[in-house]
Amino acid sequence: MSEPEFQQAYEEVVSSLEDSTLFEQHPKYRKVLPIVSVPERIIQFRVTWENDKGEQEVAQGYRVQYNSAKGPYKGGLRFHPSVNLSILKFLGFEQIFKNSLTGLDMGGGKGGLCVDLKGRSNNEIRRICYAFMRELSRHIGQDTDVPAGDIGVGGREIGYLFGAYRSYKNSWEGVLTGKGLNWGGSLIRPEATGYGLVYYTQAMIDYATNGKESFEGKRVTISGSGNVAQYAALKVIELGGTVVSLSDSKGCIISETGITSEQIADISSAKVNFKSLEQIVSEYSTFSENKVQYIAGARPWTHVQKVDIALPCATQNEVSGEEAKAFVAQGVKFVAEGSNMGSTPEAIAVFETARSTAAGPKDAVWYGPPKAANLGGVAVSGLEMAQNSQRITWTSERVDQELKRIMINCFNECIDSAKKYTKDGNALPSLVKGANIASFIKVSDAMFDQGDVF
Ligand code: NDP
Repeated sequence: MSEPEFQQAYEEVVSSLEDSTLFEQHPKYRKVLPIVSVPERIIQFRVTWENDKGEQEVAQGYRVQYNSAKGPYKGGLRFHPSVNLSILKFLGFEQIFKNSLTGLDMGGGKGGLCVDLKGRSNNEIRRICYAFMRELSRHIGQDTDVPAGDIGVGGREIGYLFGAYRSYKNSWEGVLTGKGLNWGGSLIRPEATGYGLVYYTQAMIDYATNGKESFEGKRVTISGSGNVAQYAALKVIELGGTVVSLSDSKGCIISETGITSEQIADISSAKVNFKSLEQIVSEYSTFSENKVQYIAGARPWTHVQKVDIALPCATQNEVSGEEAKAFVAQGVKFVAEGSNMGSTPEAIAVFETARSTAAGPKDAVWYGPPKAANLGGVAVSGLEMAQNSQRITWTSERVDQELKRIMINCFNECIDSAKKYTKDGNALPSLVKGANIASFIKVSDAMFDQGDVF
């Protein structure tokens, strides 16, 4: 079967490993590749519900339980018309390694439903979530598999999914993360992926400038306008940066003077009702007071100017090789991925070349790969599981502090592994190679110890 997205994710990991000294130093790790690339289990199921017109609809549901050597399967649910097994295998495979970089006990998985929720009522979304969980509830549990949200699955959907699980299983347990604050959720979970992305980028800036620069005064281009993009943008603004773009599946908005936090609050409330940026820009007063440019059918990358930092936060393969060249040409120094596999292989090659051929750290382009840069969400999901087990709630300060610590630790691990194992690593280490090598070693060691590989 052709699985292009999965193949792309697999090849990225393999090429990092092959281009390192890991297999020379420790030949046993080579044995792990064919084993870890096959999911422990794939569940595919029929989901059927009655739509608002009284008609029956059917869609394909999935859960890929990829690897449980390091803990219960953990990874989001994506509800989107593009969902298929190739996309979920790529996301699940990526998740195994990402989760290991959090330092918490979590395996990797991913799931979803091939459905377009746009235009459907709250009631119908509830029926879809209940129908989906009717089958999924047989296969998950707080010590087995703990899903969370992803594209198309936010707080509302997690609520319906959790309610369905609770009623089908007669069990209130921490089986999903991203829950509501008054029923088992963690403070900072909604913010975590976006905030964590900014903390990771801050660590990149610190490293490249020897602690001399920060987000203060930096111009930042962001794509997407969902959960990850919104909180990344808010944190950038809080740290003194200027957010010059956001986007959705229909187009992008550009603001030379900076998108404001009030505008982001409006986007946040309108997106729950599936409004497009085009509609939001024309309907909300924050956009008439503070004008932005709307460009239909375009990604923001080649429409922004004098940008220092790029944070893709929408979907996979949203930065092409040509767009990456445009970033480098205009002096972008930091690219960190909120979205999973945001950059194409061609784009990653452009960024990595601009790093390895640079005269020094300040001239390099630093590329933060998704399995490291966007792990803040799953990290706080891990903290939500810990709080659920203890039946307590931590303060937002404590969760935020933990999140920062995890992102900085992860950055340091990426640097250390790159220096230790990559051939070009010592002067300007590759974060993509460092992330792949560090996480591969952690997962492999757990698999050896437990007899998954022998
Ligand atoms: P949301 O559903 O909240 O937002 C997705 C955003 O991306 C929306 O603006 C959407 O536009 C846009 N988008 C979706 N598909 C496309 C497409 N094919 N082309 C262009 N734009 C598109 O999702 P999240 O913010 O949660 O997720 C965004 C990315 O971050 C994904 O890659 C996800 O895997 C990754 N991620 C998410 C985590 C989380 O905690 N939520 C954790 C780690 C990674 P529109 O509004 O028009 O649909």
